[in-house]
Amino acid sequence: MKVTVVGFWGAYPAGSEATSCYLFEKDNFRLLIDCGSGALAQLPKYVDPYDLDAVVLSHYHPDHVADIGVLQHLIKVQNLIREQDHSLKIYGHTDDQVAFAGLASSDTEAIAYQPNQLLALGPFKIEFLKTIHPVPCYAMRVTDGDKVVVYTADSSYQDAFIPFSRNADLLITDCNFYQGQDGTAAGHMNSEEVGMIAKKANVKTLLLSHQPHFGERKQLMVEAGEIFSGKINLAYTGYQWTGFS
Ligand SMILES: [Zn+2]
Ligand SMILES: [Zn+2]
Repeated sequence: MKVTVVGFWGAYPAGSEATSCYLFEKDNFRLLIDCGSGALAQLPKYVDPYDLDAVVLSHYHPDHVADIGVLQHLIKVQNLIREQDHSLKIYGHTDDQVAFAGLASSDTEAIAYQPNQLLALGPFKIEFLKTIHPVPCYAMRVTDGDKVVVYTADSSYQDAFIPFSRNADLLITDCNFYQGQDGTAAGHMNSEEVGMIAKKANVKTLLLSHQPHFGERKQLMVEAGEIFSGKINLAYTGYQWTGFS
């Protein structure tokens, strides 16, 4: 599978970039995980958004769903232009019924995922884990039957991430704080915590995402690297992982 970082900022986007949004591709199936602020302006660099096969959302904070509204507009307008009646499937949890209902439109279908069940989408199978966050949020373990990618979504540290991330080929983490800072109240993790998860779970590559708008972000890699000796990358717009790095 191929994973592309469409957006990696926490909370709000920096100029000309986007908040959380990741494109997973395999066998011509295009899965979008989270659709944050600015995502629709980045996405056409990698895929025609009209060609997305499914969208799965971790939770309903704006930095993960802000561009769902304009994605709905895109499908609607392109259906008119192309004289098609495509309906995009958007998967979300139902812990927040009002937010979930907003995923449905004339051109999109809201589909509830059951966090305790495996979700099969094209070549992908997704397992969920509830995170620790101010609103209900789910981490995802995505496999194509060959490689495994784990996305923590937004969360403060929990031991449950270790078995959930076990032997993952790629671990994409919330890394919103630096060494020594406590992100618990905000529901986020720091560089040491994600380094510890990567080490204990024996992952191959650690990708630091949901990045902070303060400090020298390259330092996050140094700090995580003091704990985890495997490969560490700092997410950036257009970062691509194909399973071999
Ligand atoms: Zn967030
Ligand atoms: Zn959040």
